[in-house]
Amino acid sequence: MNGNKFQDLYAEVEPGIVVAILNPEFIKSHERKGFALKVDECTQIAVLGTAEHFGFCSAELENGKKCKQVINMYEIPLSKTILNT
Ligand SMILES: [Zn+2]
Repeated sequence: MNGNKFQDLYAEVEPGIVVAILNPEFIKSHERKGFALKVDECTQIAVLGTAEHFGFCSAELENGKKCKQVINMYEIPLSKTILNT
């Protein structure tokens, strides 16, 4: 992708935003089994808005740190990891 425009787009990106990827090329993933999406132009990525119920788990772990797993706040404000322990 074009460097500067990509940086502009990346500046908009934060956890919880919803994007549409338009006409991507499906390519074999080098890092994982499966595939990856490739775009050549920033205009192929459209920021649609933010996910209303996006959030982070607020539970405190045994080591005293916050869990911070991404969760659906609509369901319950704790991650499944915490609920299953
Ligand atoms: Zn959690």
